[in-house]
Amino acid sequence: MKFSEVIGNEQAIGQIRRMIDADRLPHALLLYGEQGVPKLALATAAAQYLHCRNHVDGDSCGVCPMCRQHQSFNQVDTHYSFPFTDRKGAGCVSDDYIDEWREFIRDYPVEDYQAWLSLLKNENKQPQIYVREADNIIRKMTLSAYTAKYKVLVMWLPEKLNEDAANKLLKLIEEPYDDCKFILVSENEKGILGTILSRCQRIELRKPSTDMVAHYLCDRYGMDMQDALALASPADGNVTLAERMVQTGSEFHEFRERFIELMRLSYQRDLAKLKGWSEVVADMKREKARRFLDYAVRQVRENFIYNLHNPALNYLTREEEAFSTRFSPFINERNVENITAELQRAGADIAGNGNAKLVLFDLTIHLSMLIRL
Ligand SMILES: [Zn+2]
Repeated sequence: MKFSEVIGNEQAIGQIRRMIDADRLPHALLLYGEQGVPKLALATAAAQYLHCRNHVDGDSCGVCPMCRQHQSFNQVDTHYSFPFTDRKGAGCVSDDYIDEWREFIRDYPVEDYQAWLSLLKNENKQPQIYVREADNIIRKMTLSAYTAKYKVLVMWLPEKLNEDAANKLLKLIEEPYDDCKFILVSENEKGILGTILSRCQRIELRKPSTDMVAHYLCDRYGMDMQDALALASPADGNVTLAERMVQTGSEFHEFRERFIELMRLSYQRDLAKLKGWSEVVADMKREKARRFLDYAVRQVRENFIYNLHNPALNYLTREEEAFSTRFSPFINERNVENITAELQRAGADIAGNGNAKLVLFDLTIHLSMLIRL
C-alpha cells in the first residue's frame, strides 16, 4: 500500500512521512479513529515507506523488491497481529490465520470488523489477542531483522489484547530493541490498557470528506460520480458504511420505489391504497422500516434543495433525480419542516416499539394533508 492509496488524512500522512524521513519514527505509534475511518491502510503504507529503498515524491516507489513484498503482505520483517477466535485449536497465534488476514487486507482496503468476523467463520465468539500471541510477538521481535533496518509489528485492535497478553507485551513496548517499530491501529483507544497507551505516540485519524469517499467508491466499484456522491453523503465519512450501502443496493432500490409510492398516493389522498402501503412497510423488520424512514427524510430534504437548482448541494442518484424533476415542486417552504417532523416521529415511534401499522397509517394521513400545501 502506498500513501497515495490511503483515503484522506493528508496531515497524518505528512507527519508520518517526516518522522520516517528523519529516522525518528517512534518505537510505538498508535493510529486511532472511529469505525469506518481508514486506519490499517495508513499503517501498512507507513511500514512500506519505512522499508522502501527508493522513495519517489514522498511516497514508496511501489516497484522495488521491498515494496513488492509489502504489496503481497509477505515482507519478512513485517509482522501482523490481530484478534482472532481460537477456531483452529487452543494455542493458536495470528500466524495461523495469516491466509485469512491477507485475504482481509487485500479485499477490504478499509478494514471492516464485521467482514473480519465472517472470515474467521466463528461469528458467535468475540475475537481476542491471546497471551500465546504475545509470546509469539516477543519471539519474533527479538530476532534480528533479515532484510531491513527495522522490523515492524502492525497490530490491529490492541484494545482486544486480553489482560495477560497486554501485560506481557508491555515490557517489550517500554524497552524495545533498537530495530523494532510497533504500529498499533485502534478503533477504541479508550479500551487499550493505560500502561500501553501511555507508551505510544498517538495520531488521531479523521473521517475522509464526502468527495473523497465518493472518489473511492467510483474507483473501487466503477460507479458514476453522481451515484457515488448520493451514497457517500449519508455515510458521513464512514467508508465501511458507504461500502455496505453499495453492496445492499437492492435495499435502496426498494426504498426508492416505496418512497415514490408514498408521495404519489399521499398526493392522490388514496387512503385505501395508503393503508395497503402502511401494511407492506410495517412487514419490514423494525430496523429496516426505520432505515426506510431515514431514507425518506433525506429524500424530502434533497427534493426541497432540488428546487434551488444548485447541483453542488444535491446528493441524488440518477434514478432518484428522474423522479425529483417532477416531484420536487411539491416539497416547499410551507411543508418541508412538518413532513420531515412527521417522518422522524414515525421513525422514533417504531423504534420505541409502537404498533408499526398504526404509526405508518397515521403518518400517511398527515402526509396526505401536508403534501398539497
Ligand atoms: Zn519501493
